[in-house]
Amino acid sequence: MASNRLACHDCHRIVEPDEEMCPYCSSTSLTEDWAGYVVITHPEESEIAEKMEVSEPGEYALKVR
Ligand SMILES: [Zn+2]
Repeated sequence: MASNRLACHDCHRIVEPDEEMCPYCSSTSLTEDWAGYVVITHPEESEIAEKMEVSEPGEYALKVR
């Protein structure tokens, strides 16, 4: 893994390590314990996005523990 960036438990977005709150959904449950970095550019054409129930382009973690 390239960095210690955090993933949001609630929306699975990847956020910067210094964030205390998810800038996307305002959740405070951020964790370093995640796996599977995915960049979703076209959610409407992406099976992964559909499975993850993601509707906006961005960086996501496949698994957040
Ligand atoms: Zn979030």
